[in-house]
Order: sequence, then structure tokens, then C-alpha cells
Amino acid sequence: MERPWLSHYEEGVPHEFTPTNDTLPDLLRRTAEQYPDRTALTFLGAKTTYRVLWQQALSFAAALQKIGVQPGERVSLMLPNCPQFVVGFYGALLAGATVVNTSPLYTPHELQHQLQDSGSETLILLDAFYPRYEEIAGTVPVQRVIVTGIQDALPFPKNVLYPLKARREGTWVGVKAGGSVYSMTQLVRQDGTPEPVVLRPDDVALLQYTGGTTGVPKGAMLTHRNLVANAEQARAWMTDLKDGQEVTLAAIPFFHVYGMTVAMNLSLLIGATIVLVPNARDIKMVLGQIDASGATLFPGVPTLYNAINHHPDTPKHDLTTIRACISGSAPLLLETARQFRQITGGANLVEGYGLTEASPITHTNPIFGDQREGSIGLPFPGVDAVVMGEDGQPVPTGEVGELWVSGPMVMKGYYNRPDETAKVLREWQGQTWLLTGDMAVMDDDGYFRIVDRKKDLIIAGGFNVYPREVEEVLTMHPAVLEAAAVGVPDEYRGESVHAVVVLKPGQQATEADIIAHCRRELSAYKAPRSVEFRAELPKTAVGKVLRRQLADEARAARQQP
Ligand code: AMP
Repeated sequence: MERPWLSHYEEGVPHEFTPTNDTLPDLLRRTAEQYPDRTALTFLGAKTTYRVLWQQALSFAAALQKIGVQPGERVSLMLPNCPQFVVGFYGALLAGATVVNTSPLYTPHELQHQLQDSGSETLILLDAFYPRYEEIAGTVPVQRVIVTGIQDALPFPKNVLYPLKARREGTWVGVKAGGSVYSMTQLVRQDGTPEPVVLRPDDVALLQYTGGTTGVPKGAMLTHRNLVANAEQARAWMTDLKDGQEVTLAAIPFFHVYGMTVAMNLSLLIGATIVLVPNARDIKMVLGQIDASGATLFPGVPTLYNAINHHPDTPKHDLTTIRACISGSAPLLLETARQFRQITGGANLVEGYGLTEASPITHTNPIFGDQREGSIGLPFPGVDAVVMGEDGQPVPTGEVGELWVSGPMVMKGYYNRPDETAKVLREWQGQTWLLTGDMAVMDDDGYFRIVDRKKDLIIAGGFNVYPREVEEVLTMHPAVLEAAAVGVPDEYRGESVHAVVVLKPGQQATEADIIAHCRRELSAYKAPRSVEFRAELPKTAVGKVLRRQLADEARAARQQP
């Protein structure tokens, strides 16, 4: 079939892509057979080989079955990046369960919503998070709680010296309000092999609740096929990956779909060593770990690269082993990419794009070829992409419309929400398309640029203002570290642009300076009419700026007498 809306493809990277029938456990098993003695995980000095990781996942699966976990049940994980995450994730899948990723930052209320919505019978969590569960135990369907501690993954003698207050796990094991409590360490130690469960590629492997920037969280149903495909697509795109040799710095959290696919699943697929960093905000630790491990791959988000660019310790560390970085989740500002390339001696930092519902990556700039600044690049191998107009037909090249994507990585739907699913999955030209809710433009060479999110659009005096464009200009000001632009009610214009700005340490600027700078660079209607200075911007767990929260706060501040 002719597909005139398709963009061009990078030379050497196939557009056609045949998804396999593998499940995620197949992927880990195969790597464990191929590289049994290679280090799969390193965590603050503790190392786990692929052989041991596979055995731990099998043992944990067997233990889950023994305590009553049935195929198809939901198992929630509330863990930072640590070995237990990988064992818990793959162990639950081997037992035939569906994993539910849960943010460790959730409040009891948010946790309650997700446990109820997903109907999770089992929750695996870090001891430090237990008090938040305790507050809502009894109000959620959880029957089994499996607790683990950071110290359990540390090498001797750190595991013994770990502060005593964190070593309470043993005393919790037993039956409590809200279910039986088990020790994950003890379950994994029981060394066993699970009863075989038939896993099919179209079984739901994961319920991934979509980011906090869009309304009430809904569980995107991602199948084994979706998740394996996205890792394979990434491998097909990154043509110079060396199987069994790469070292991935995993600072972006696995509980977010981007970290899970790129830092965890892709690494396990190619037999990389994963360097686990439990807290991406600890830039000193990130720098130290890159230096100590000789990391070659470093997936991240713009705020992480920006923080490294400006950290006082950066010059003390050797970051030159880093070869390739995909920056995803939010726009990568040109200045951030330029500085990062400089401090790493030329690491290839390319912008990519994706969303939870697409497992998540759909676009990236070519890793070696023609990278275009300010663009999300070309569709991934096997991804069809089209920019649609309001009339349901593709818009001409160069014009703005909504980005639709299609391919093996597109979710099955939202869990128990057929109405929400129908709003974002559409049949067109014999294919299923995901409506991304992002406004995009495709150029003559097939490169895409995200103009903004449909809902973040500001309409000032009848003109469309895309916050991203204003933010690019705000961060060009020499005193500005980070900025967000949001719409606030305006008596004359309907809405006007309000800027929220974080200054670089030791720098100063006034509201008038910032506005004057923007007026020089932008049409008058796009320039902010008010500026607010803050010490930091509110962000999601993966560092995405919460524009909607800023807009709500700015509106509320205006209504006060
Ligand atoms: P989430 O599902 O939470 O990962 O959020 C996905 C959304 O993040 C997308 O729909 C986009 O609005 C935004 N996003 C991701 N990558 C980029 C990018 N490179 N540029 C602009 N927006 C992005």
C-alpha cells in the first residue's frame, strides 16, 4: 500500500520492522544464556551476573506462585532503581502476572488511587515507603505486601553497617492489617523454579499509569509485544550498539516507561551492564558513577543533562566514555545539548520523543546522521507517523496538526476505560493509530518538530502561543537557568503569557529585564506580560515541568485580593 504521509528514513536504518513473538522473559533468558558471566547489574558496589539475575527472577517467580499469585493478577512495584526492581519486574512476569509501575514519590492518596484502579493484589515496596502504604492498608485490594530494603542489595560490610533504623524489615514479616507481609530477600533465597506459565505476546505485561501532567492517571495496557518491540526498535535504530559490551548509566527511573524501556529492557536485550542509580537528583552520585563505571550509554531527560552541565563537581569527573545519549520526555533546549557535548568531549546527545501509550519511543534524531536541532527527528524503525488536521486528513508538509503514530509499540488501550481508549486509538487506512495530543510539523525531509501539547497552548488575543517557543527564548537570557511559560486570564486578550523563571546561582535579573529580552526575540503577543521568580520549578518524577500546576498557581495568585 502506498503511504504518502510517511516520512523519509535514515540511510542504513530500515523502516520496515518485523516484531518478534518474544515475551520480555524470553529476552532476559536469551541474554543470560549468551552472557552468563557478564555483570548485568551494579549497585553501589554490589554486582550481579546475568546467570544470577535470571536465577533470582525464576526463584522469585516460584515464590510468588507459592504465596498465591495467579497468572493475570496485578503486582505493583514501588521501588527506586535497585536490583530488586529488575528481579521483581521479571519475576512477576515469569509468574504470569501483570506488573504495575508505581512512583516512589506517590502520596498515600495517589498510591490508593492506583492500587484500587489497577486492582493490585500484591505490592512490592521499599521498607522506607511502608508507612505510606500503612496509611491506606485495608482500603485497597492488596493482600500480600513484599518488603525489601536498599541494604539488602548492598555488598558486605555495607549491608551490615546500613543504619539500624532502615533494618526493620525482619520485624515486619507476618500478618498485618492490609495483608500478609513477606521479606523479598527471604522469598528470593528460597531458590526454586516456577511452574511454567504460558505467556503470549499479546498478554498485558504492564499497566503504566500515564504521567502526572495530564489529568487523572489511567493505566496504559502495554503488552509483551509492545515492550519487546520498542526495545528492538531502539536496537535497530542505534546501529553501532555492541552486544555484550555496553555499560548503561541507569539514573532515569525504571518506574517511568522511558527508563524501563531504554535503561532496563534495551540494556537487558543487548547484554549491557546496568549501573543502577537510585536517585537521579543526586548529581554527585550520577557523576561519580559515570566516572567509576566507564558508562557508554546514558539515557536521560533535559533537566538531568542541564543539571550536570551546571554542577560544580562536573569538571572533576571523566565523562568521556559516554558515547550515546537519548534525551526524551521533554524538549531538549539547544543550549543544553551543546554544553553537554562540550563537557563530555563530544557524546552524541540526540533528542527523542515518545509517550507512555507508545511504550514509549516513536521518534529520534539519527544517532550518526543528520541531527536537526529543535527537532524530534525521524520515526523509529517500524513507526508510521502522520500530522493530522482537524478534518481528519493529513496536513501539507510544514503545517501544524496533531501527531498520530502507528506501529507494534502502540498500547492495547487504557485499563477498564473503553471511553478514554476510544478517544486516543483510531482506525485509519487499515491501521490503528494513537492520537498523541501533541501538535507537530513535518518538514520536507520527513523530520518532525513538536510545536506543543494541544492542552498547553496559550491563546493570547486570538493568536496561538506555544509555550515551548517562549521557553526557548527565556533560557537564552544569560541569567536564566530554567523557565516555564503558562497562560493566565487577561481581561483584554483572553489569556496572556506568564513566565516562571529560575535564575542561575549568583545571577540577577528583574522582571523588566526578562520582558525586554523576550520582546527583542518574539512578536509582542508572545512575550510574557508578567514574570515570577522561583528557586525551582515543580516537576514530575522524571523531571518534566508541571506546567499545569504552575498555571493553576498563577491563576490562584491573581484571584487573591
Ligand atoms: P509521558 O507519557 O508522561 O511520557 O508524556 C508524554 C508526553 O511528553 C508527550 O505526549 C509530549 O507531550 C511530551 N514529550 C516527550 N518527549 C518530548 C520531546 N522531545 N519534546 C516535546 N515534548 C515531549
